[in-house]
Amino acid sequence: MQSQRPFECRYCRAPLRTTFADLGMSPLCQTHIAPDQLHEMEPFYPLHAYVCDRCFLVQLQEFVTPDSIFGEYAYFSSYSTSWVEHARRYAEMAITRFGLGKASKVMEIASNDGYLLQHFVARGVPVLGIEPAANVAKVAAEKGVPTTVRFFGRNAAEDIAREHRQPDLLLGNNVLAHVPDLNDFVAGMKRLLAPGGVITMEFPHLQRLMAENQFDTIYHEHFSYFSFAVVEKVFAHHGLTMFDVEELPTHGGSLRIYARHAENTALQVEEGIDALRQREIEDGFLTLDRYRGFGEQVKSTKRKLLSFLIDAKQRGKRVVGYGAPGKGNTLLNYCGIRTDFLDFTVDANPYKQGKFTPGTRIPILAPERIREARPDYVLILPWNLKDEISRAASYISEWGGRFAVPIPEIRVL
Ligand SMILES: [Zn+2]
Repeated sequence: MQSQRPFECRYCRAPLRTTFADLGMSPLCQTHIAPDQLHEMEPFYPLHAYVCDRCFLVQLQEFVTPDSIFGEYAYFSSYSTSWVEHARRYAEMAITRFGLGKASKVMEIASNDGYLLQHFVARGVPVLGIEPAANVAKVAAEKGVPTTVRFFGRNAAEDIAREHRQPDLLLGNNVLAHVPDLNDFVAGMKRLLAPGGVITMEFPHLQRLMAENQFDTIYHEHFSYFSFAVVEKVFAHHGLTMFDVEELPTHGGSLRIYARHAENTALQVEEGIDALRQREIEDGFLTLDRYRGFGEQVKSTKRKLLSFLIDAKQRGKRVVGYGAPGKGNTLLNYCGIRTDFLDFTVDANPYKQGKFTPGTRIPILAPERIREARPDYVLILPWNLKDEISRAASYISEWGGRFAVPIPEIRVL
């Protein structure tokens, strides 16, 4: 499904020339292989991130339509207990800070299975979820979270504004990076938001991605990678002003931005905004050179991981993986890690068990299988959950097993 979009910046339309990271060819990270597909071909697409010379947006070209990615999505947010708890705390904060109640309206873009909006429903605040995947939207509706099935953009915003009252709080977590038409999406938020309303969004912070070698968070479904400076510029272009920002530990380091209509000066701009902007400028985020050095960091991280695995295998050690997340797909394919290094990996999500990792074809089993296999090393692929996972599988110490994390560089825990 080749896109007809020309190879230009999805925000400012300048031609893209400068490589940020070239991770070779990779399959889509959510297309786990069923046993009866093992003899079939698999499509691989270039995984090559560029930085725009003019606006510094880091981005991938669009090779697959969002339809084919999100039409029937296998990711149910409620499987992650720490994520549901993060959502609950967010709802408490928002209700208090913005004085939300029975007369308010809260809308979430990419509301998934209602993992977040359910907390507003429980407090009597009216909500509407906006979710493109029909199967997950159905689960949300069954939980009592009214959900409209559609992709968000200017057209959707027009329809929703006509059919519902405009939201006092409009939010989206980990959706901005997945939006192919960024301008249409942000313009849609501007259209939909009530005059005195607030937008909050969370997304991984590019500064953390670069500082901690998180190149495995680059995958085809992730079209854009944001610094605060760039996202502020994009919002300002569409008449939305940032008035607060928080740094969060989620997904390896995320930003939560707060925005309002530029006209709504009743909401004062907080000081943290200037401090973060200044920190990025001092770190070189508005110069191309800062981005050009990242490719070498990526190659060096790969070589260190492979050295560890080669050494372990030559010493006759058994190594297995833990998790089959999107980021694991990038890491395994880019580094060429197959069953020659990892006997298998495990995942708690029953949708993935019994299947194989895309491209690298490593069997995905249930977590209990680690106890039977008694491996010497367990490589944690979702390194952002390393504390949760090493606690859950601490029993590997019974036979002297050790955990290892690949990012920011290979380390045995
Ligand atoms: Zn640009």
